[in-house]
Amino acid sequence: MGGRATDMVLLDENGIRCDGRRIDEPRSVSIKAGVLKNADGSAYIEFGDNKILAGVYGPRDIHPKHLSDADTGVLRCRYHMEPFSVTERKNPAPSRREIEISKVIKEALAPAVMLERFPRTVVDVYIEILQADGGSRCAALDAASVALADAGIPMRDMVSACAAGKVADTIVLDVNNEEDQAGQADMPIGYMPNLNRITLLQLDGVMSLDEYKQCIETGIRGCKLVYEIQKKALMEKYFDGEAEK
Ligand code: ADP
Repeated sequence: MGGRATDMVLLDENGIRCDGRRIDEPRSVSIKAGVLKNADGSAYIEFGDNKILAGVYGPRDIHPKHLSDADTGVLRCRYHMEPFSVTERKNPAPSRREIEISKVIKEALAPAVMLERFPRTVVDVYIEILQADGGSRCAALDAASVALADAGIPMRDMVSACAAGKVADTIVLDVNNEEDQAGQADMPIGYMPNLNRITLLQLDGVMSLDEYKQCIETGIRGCKLVYEIQKKALMEKYFDGEAEK
């Protein structure tokens, strides 16, 4: 978390951020559904400079068997960073951070997936971070949601994710890596747009109650923008470009 000297650089006197965006402007997002032939469902996302691939298998038999639940299906998620995804080679073994993010992504997706329809089975979600640039858990969640829909898994809603944060005492949409490192707060949000329910809410940093409310509203606005791009990706796959018309 940086002090004021850093904040001056993060937001200039014209309200322009270090990567040229306005305070309410997200990075560019593009999603492609169904990019892997061998997985049941898949998606590739570019969220700013984040590049992430998600692959889904299931519902299928669960191994080891003792993990099965007679009443409902099981959702498993793995968030994994490739060694080349950050500037210093990352050890490919799962870090504490990756284990935590795998858990929060699973918990953010679970309310949307109708697991009760598939007792004794598992749905596996594998997420590979090819390139990370701040906000990778949100982008991973966006790709995983599209991959689940692409696999034909029944869902109550899409989960759309985007972060908001505080930089130079100002609430901004979609925090990038520099803002994450040197800014005052980062708040990743996962949201089901049709059910108006938050499924992921984390906060790293300090803010007032008013800022907190404004930050949630800003993040949800970002989620709704991402939702349109997620739907377009699925339409493009299943309706062969009809989404454009
Ligand atoms: P998120 O990617 O969801 O914002 P963090 O706040 O933990 O999660 O990480 C912020 C950013 O820090 C990541 O997107 C990535 O660019 C960078 N980062 C994370 N882990 C490492 C690492 N092991 N080495 C270098 N950079 C990293």
